[in-house]
Amino acid sequence: MATPAILGGEPVRTSSFPPRETMGRKERRAARKVIDSDVLSAFIGGPGKHFNGGPKVREFERAWADKFGYRHVITCNSCTSGLVLAVGAAGVGPGDEVICTPYSMSASATCPLFYGGVPVFADIDPDTFCLSPKSVERRVSDRTKAIVVVHLFGQPADMDAINEIADEHDLVVIEDAAQSPGATYRGKPVGTIGDIGVFSLNFHKHIHTGEGGVIVTDDDTLARRCRLIRNHGENSVGASDLDDLANTFGGNYRLTELQAAIGTEQLRRLDGYLDTRRRLAEHLRERLEDVAGIYVPDCREDRTHCYYVCPLKYDSERAGISRSMFVRSVLAELPAPGDFESTPVTEGYVEPLYLLPVFQEKLAMGGAGFPFNYSDDVEYDYSRGLCPVTERLYEEELLLSPIVREPLVERDINDFVVAIYKVVENSSRIRAELTNEGEVFTPVEAANTSRP
Ligand SMILES: *Cc1c(COP(=O)(O)O)cnc(C)c1O
Repeated sequence: MATPAILGGEPVRTSSFPPRETMGRKERRAARKVIDSDVLSAFIGGPGKHFNGGPKVREFERAWADKFGYRHVITCNSCTSGLVLAVGAAGVGPGDEVICTPYSMSASATCPLFYGGVPVFADIDPDTFCLSPKSVERRVSDRTKAIVVVHLFGQPADMDAINEIADEHDLVVIEDAAQSPGATYRGKPVGTIGDIGVFSLNFHKHIHTGEGGVIVTDDDTLARRCRLIRNHGENSVGASDLDDLANTFGGNYRLTELQAAIGTEQLRRLDGYLDTRRRLAEHLRERLEDVAGIYVPDCREDRTHCYYVCPLKYDSERAGISRSMFVRSVLAELPAPGDFESTPVTEGYVEPLYLLPVFQEKLAMGGAGFPFNYSDDVEYDYSRGLCPVTERLYEEELLLSPIVREPLVERDINDFVVAIYKVVENSSRIRAELTNEGEVFTPVEAANTSRP
């Protein structure tokens, strides 16, 4: 049996996985046209025809609406901004509770704070990694105003059950669809299965404009409120027929013409990217079927997956080797240049978000504990142990592979699989030799909360 690379043997592969190439001829041409026009943004923060942006922004919004069938599309300068707009449009105010997932990019759970809302964490499902409706139900109180659902890694959450809870308690459902453009739930694209959804156009997402975000909703009032908040609503609310002006004073959350023009071209690439990602993830799932202790969980039958990254479940007892030793050994077999998109496998995802300083210290707005101390009747709990399923995934059971992406092909995935086989077959030898050497393994920190 070949000696594993971590014990000094030959690695499976030395040539690096090719990086993504995101900008092509069409993006360059679209960007040059905007520069030649000399109009890089046409927004004006007051009433009139430029309140909703220039021609490229409106063209991009129309293209996004047409492609998926959304009634309203409102672009903004990031998904983080979009989540803040959605929370504001939903009418969240001081002391209102918003149920969030602890397993996501931090903005999915800090967005309520911008309006004085308090994030309350529910646990996730161990196989979809999205909010567990049962846990959500247990966290609802008479202060709850909204739920932020994240379609994590590209798979939609259990939306029917979540909408049912929301209907019963009159809650607004916000979908954080940053990682799942084009994913469907019971045949319907994510984003408007709840009340309002937000996508990311950050550099690391499926398609991008450097930075950017896209809000979608079928609700006329939510759309109008988002447009006001996006562009200094305070200057324009007099000209709107909105009854409830709360939260609409707004700011500058606008996308530029340059970004919008690039976004329109990027959108045309999405279907091709999704085909590649689904094909490669399926290939990985099939090739791992005979490996003990590691598998790609099936996507639920009533939805489609976008594979922002490919999640894998890991069982160290069956695989015969600890998760951190496994990851280090696999990475020794393959090129792992250190950038997230080309590192074949990492441990876990972010640290559960309630462990962030903002929740541990209860310091969000000002230094006096607002909004966590808004109500005298409730003491918010963010202690370790709050969401055991999430903590177990983070500490023991989850692996992520970002290499199910363009421009990789099945051959690249095969190298990854061969490396996994080699490590699992040699697991007792690796364990024995490394332990005998007294080598101390600390977890490979897969992620920090700033990871996209
Ligand atoms: C990337 C990401 C965000 C933030 O997106 P930005 O456009 O970078 O602000 C929010 N939520 C999730 C789940 C993400 O993956």
